[in-house]
Amino acid sequence: MEKKTKLVADWQTLMRTFINHEDDASRSTLVKYMEQIFFGLHDFLKKHVGITEEVSLKDLSKNFTNTLISENPEKKLADVITDLVENIAPHAVNVTSPYFVGHMTSAIPFFMVHLKTIVAALNQNVVKIETSKVVSILEKQVIAKIHRLIYEEDESFYERHVQNIRTTLGCFIEDGTLANLTAFWIARNSMLAPKNGFTGVEQEGIQAAYKAYQTERCVILVSRLGHYCVKKAGGLLGMGNQNIMIIDVDADNRMDMDSLKKAIKDIKNSSIKTKIIAIVGIAGATETGTIDPLSEIGAICAENRIHFHIDAAWGGPTLMSEKYRHLLKGIKLADSVTIDGHKQFYMPMGCGMVFFKDPSIMDSVSYHANYVNRPGSVDLGIKSLAGSREASSIILDSALKIMGSKGYALLIEHGIDICSEFAGEIEKRPDFQLITRPELNILTYRICPFHIQSMLAQSNPEQICSINKKLNKINTAVQRLQREAGKSFVSRTKLKISNRHGKDIVVFRCVIMNPMTNMKILNEILDEQEEIFRGIEEL
Ligand SMILES: *Cc1c(COP(=O)(O)O)cnc(C)c1O
Repeated sequence: MEKKTKLVADWQTLMRTFINHEDDASRSTLVKYMEQIFFGLHDFLKKHVGITEEVSLKDLSKNFTNTLISENPEKKLADVITDLVENIAPHAVNVTSPYFVGHMTSAIPFFMVHLKTIVAALNQNVVKIETSKVVSILEKQVIAKIHRLIYEEDESFYERHVQNIRTTLGCFIEDGTLANLTAFWIARNSMLAPKNGFTGVEQEGIQAAYKAYQTERCVILVSRLGHYCVKKAGGLLGMGNQNIMIIDVDADNRMDMDSLKKAIKDIKNSSIKTKIIAIVGIAGATETGTIDPLSEIGAICAENRIHFHIDAAWGGPTLMSEKYRHLLKGIKLADSVTIDGHKQFYMPMGCGMVFFKDPSIMDSVSYHANYVNRPGSVDLGIKSLAGSREASSIILDSALKIMGSKGYALLIEHGIDICSEFAGEIEKRPDFQLITRPELNILTYRICPFHIQSMLAQSNPEQICSINKKLNKINTAVQRLQREAGKSFVSRTKLKISNRHGKDIVVFRCVIMNPMTNMKILNEILDEQEEIFRGIEEL
């Protein structure tokens, strides 16, 4: 074996890492793997990445305990890359497998990896024009394109705002959590705006704002199926996360309008003086994919002058499908809308976006600094929760050009259509019970053999409770065993089902977004679950 020369961190090595040329070994390793990744991503992942983990996380973690940074280089690039491919990738999760239907993370078109590489290579920082130039105006254009998809304002509106340096139709941010936080931040500031000597909550803080507005509490209303990030926003914005008020859902898992109206009435009549910062409508709930009655919530918000936020992190891109865009009817009424790029725009992690109906509403969060973000400049960092940011807009804009809205529509429609067919198959099989019927491309179901379903129908609440307890155990075990077998992955959650005595029941959750997932694969997944179930059957 060749004797390894000791690696040293000297100036010469350092310069090489910036300017040029790996040694030949590094270069050929890099080219070998990059060629596979760039031109055969699908096969590369299939070959190198396991779908789920066979080695336990605990065992793996034993190899990750060294906390010292080595003074001199430990490895050459070739060895680092080889290590990533041979030792890290196999223990990562192949989320791109068509058998991986458990989460909102899936295969992405191969060109996304190319685009991400170019974005990294250009290394633009969109916080300011001085480090991004044309990319900042490209971002304004892409934001306007998606704004138009949502709000469908007329041509003159977009001509006026697309490159307007004073107005903002929305912004990019790392993820849906921060996009929602941005929306609530703006909504809070609009509600507790400057007036009569009070300079606004953003400047004076929550206590002064409550005093100026003679308020004791602020709340945000969201359905039981709201994403948990809404609570984080409650904490961060100083309202307290206990003031995120949960509204019940109806039998179809949509926000129940009577409960919403009652909540608003109760708030008005409450002895604690309360302001409603926003009402959230969900367009594609994370657990069930269901869509709240957006038009009705919009009307209630308008009537009560409440900020209407739509969390379309998941469902937003459905707007590109002529066939299904009607499901999001009412989205135009929203004051703000969140959409995630890394979900159904099939972009790489992480890209969130938030859009505003009123192009001036973000004025309440403009921040300036002497060295950047000068007043009157195009600097996108002026109105943004994030500072430095990568140019995700390049990826989204290119993807829209490569796919066309029709290309995206095909993906969206495939997911919804297959999911509906899958629901039919679940209902046909005697061992399974469909729990939430899909509205988009997400459904939940569980193992609950037909004779048990009949038994449940005739039982009293106490018996139901005890049967469900057993079923929960079984479903939990089947989900775990299937994941550990490593062939396919379905996720698991707990849902409160209204006509089942309010108890949490354990369900399988499927998200169908991979265009390679088909009924044959879904049937195999059900077969496997039946087989595992029969192995552990104890009912
Ligand atoms: C995924 C999701 C979020 C959170 O988005 P992240 O990008 O994971 O932060 C919020 N709301 C809904 C409805 C989601 O599906």
